[in-house]
Amino acid sequence: TILVTGATGQLGRLIVESLLERGASADQIVAGARDVSKAADLGVRAVHLDYTDPASIAAALDGVDSVVLVSGSEVGQRVAQHQAVIDAAAAAGVSKFVYTSAPKATTSDLVLAPEHKATEEAIAASGLPAVILRNNWYTENYVRDLATAAETGVLSSGAGDGRVASASRKDYADAVAVVLLEDGHIGEVYELGGDVAWTYSDLAAAFSEILGREVSYVPLSFDEQVAALRGFGLDEGTVGFVAALDAGIRGGALADTDGTLSRLIGRPTTPLVEGLRAAA
Ligand code: NDP
Repeated sequence: TILVTGATGQLGRLIVESLLERGASADQIVAGARDVSKAADLGVRAVHLDYTDPASIAAALDGVDSVVLVSGSEVGQRVAQHQAVIDAAAAAGVSKFVYTSAPKATTSDLVLAPEHKATEEAIAASGLPAVILRNNWYTENYVRDLATAAETGVLSSGAGDGRVASASRKDYADAVAVVLLEDGHIGEVYELGGDVAWTYSDLAAAFSEILGREVSYVPLSFDEQVAALRGFGLDEGTVGFVAALDAGIRGGALADTDGTLSRLIGRPTTPLVEGLRAAA
């Protein structure tokens, strides 16, 4: 039996779907959800699982031999939350533990890498038979920029000419299903991203194609981006976080791609324009 945590989230839902498509039967899958009512449409059994409630995690692991821990969404809380899942999975003696991490998590200076680094280290320390999937950006992250560009004709960012090897959530979900359903993969750390590492000029061109109107890329300096984000009324924490993320992209944190994701899933990753169109 495979336990999918975060099964009610955008990636988790697609993981359940990919497992079913790739031959798992519904009774082999358990959806872990902090709100089980949100899991009613998944077509598999749902169990209550809250990262902040260790008893719920232990109960959810009953009869489970494989786990995918989808990294949580509560930034700043995640190390303790993930640790609770790791501890419970180690105590239950699961035979495969898959974690969705971030590019080069242990060496990256990306602002959100430290929680993933700490999680990977906790997994290693636990001795769990693990597979680490270091996911690059989701193409879907840019749907909001697409909507803005539809209004303004402009894509602005502090990412400079940094490249992003994004892929669609479905591509990453398929990779989770593959490493869960195939034998092996234990001990591997896979850097996963799209087949193409694009620039923000390429992204603006993709927006133009989708919108049928000219969209230009306006690169911003760090300070210009901070001022622009403040102008949108964002709080200082969010302003700093977003600007730091884009500075990381400018520095190349998301630029690498070596085709590992497409090899794992047995098909090319979803092209940028197609992924944006599907998500918009
Ligand atoms: P979502 O926000 O859609 O899903 C997050 C999931 O985590 C939800 O199912 C949510 O439950 C669950 N969750 C959050 N906190 C808890 C908790 N305390 N206990 C149990 N479950 C919890 O994110 P995505 O599916 O889009 O992405 C998955 C993860 O990938 C994110 O959580 C984040 O770590 C990371 N991410 C990666 C990005 C990338 O570009 N590579 C971009 C954004 C995030 P509920 O449904 O109840 O809210």
